[in-house]
Amino acid sequence: MTDLYGTSDLYGYSELLSEPEVAKLRALREVLDEQLRPVLPDLWERAESPVFLRPALRDLRLVDDPVLLGPDGRVRELYAGFRAFEFSRTDIGTGMFYHGQTAMFRELVLQGGSPEQVEAWDAAIVSFEMTGAFALTEPDHGSDVARGLETTARREGDRWILDGRKRWIGNVAHSEYVGVFARDVADGEVKVFLARTDAPGLTLTTIERKAALRLVTNSDIELVGVEVPESHRLQRITSFADVSALFRTLRPDVAWIAAGAQAGAYEAALRYALAREQFGRPIAGFQLVQDKIVRMLGNVTASLGMAVRLSQRREDGVSSDEESALAKVWIADRLRETVAWAREIVGGNGIVIDYDVMRFFTDAEAVYTYEGTREVNTLVVGRAVTGLSAFTR
Ligand SMILES: Cc1cc2nc3c(=O)[nH]c(=O)nc-3n(C[C@H](O)[C@H](O)[C@H](O)COP(=O)(O)OP(=O)(O)OC[C@H]3O[C@@H](n4cnc5c(N)ncnc54)[C@H](O)[C@@H]3O)c2cc1C
Repeated sequence: MTDLYGTSDLYGYSELLSEPEVAKLRALREVLDEQLRPVLPDLWERAESPVFLRPALRDLRLVDDPVLLGPDGRVRELYAGFRAFEFSRTDIGTGMFYHGQTAMFRELVLQGGSPEQVEAWDAAIVSFEMTGAFALTEPDHGSDVARGLETTARREGDRWILDGRKRWIGNVAHSEYVGVFARDVADGEVKVFLARTDAPGLTLTTIERKAALRLVTNSDIELVGVEVPESHRLQRITSFADVSALFRTLRPDVAWIAAGAQAGAYEAALRYALAREQFGRPIAGFQLVQDKIVRMLGNVTASLGMAVRLSQRREDGVSSDEESALAKVWIADRLRETVAWAREIVGGNGIVIDYDVMRFFTDAEAVYTYEGTREVNTLVVGRAVTGLSAFTR
């Protein structure tokens, strides 16, 4: 019994972790509790990213500590999942801040780069020396970006010229590079280019007045004649099938993030229900409050079970679009329910950021939408189980 998550892990899924993995998650929790928790409400109010955490996260060696690595040189899927769970149990935005670098940008390079590119950049990405973002979505193309991608890449000798616009790009304001998905005008195929964020012709504009995920800076990007050398084109992304493969890897992380956030909201509501007294007794003693507590726990437990099984299957080499999409869509749906019940239990205080649940409540809206909306992930699963594509042509 690891007792890492108390009743949030009623069925003991975290007992599947090894001792070094548990020790690493405890070390991460210590950093989050000591350095992040006390300043979370202020960061939220100022819409500021926890960039100050990067050195502490690097020193923790969450990704590359030799005690965690398997024969393939990587951490286990299950540990990576619980790592996302641990982050978002504290704060979804911080989880996304970390995920943007260590999952989205890193996986882009790991899966898209040539062996030489991976060799040259991976260690620097893991240590935050080389920071980056993932720029696929465009102002006019979100769900239909596969067919609608308008950003173009034109080759001129050993360099490429990029033109276009991107929207919603997380972390790019704090990054040195951005992986830009663009259509090669010569063959019409998608390719990815690591552009420097300070390159001439590249302009970033922060999306202001965001009510969800305030700890993640999202930006619009304009690219006008931005030059990228051929050495910075990711050599193994040459079609949208390669992009789909990336999403198969990234959606499970979001499923874990959505599960962890439910644990965070459940724990905050339970703490409050035990401390808050009305009618001369803790509100946790009322039947109607226990109903919500148990509904939340059911959601947390089922979500965790689904995420764990998905990771185990990926560890065994089983990976499909529909498995990743179903976990993302279903757990994000449960998240929306769970945070609403948590907010209800905390009553009027529930809308005050200092009581935690409203942060989870607003951030849940972003989790619900990114890495494929509910509808798009549903269509992916629907196509797989019926054999009929309901995507419009
Ligand atoms: C906080 C946040 C962070 C993000 N970070 C990044 C990032 O770092 N990098 C990046 O590239 N992108 C990022 N995104 C973009 C995200 O992936 C898109 O928002 C998402 O793909 C949806 O696109 P859209 O917002 O343009 O919505 P739209 O595609 O315009 O969809 C609007 C509505 O129409 C529905 N819809 C669309 N097509 C269909 C259909 N065929 N059938 C039924 N319903 C349909 C959708 O499900 C949705 O409900 C981020 C978004 C958010 C909100």
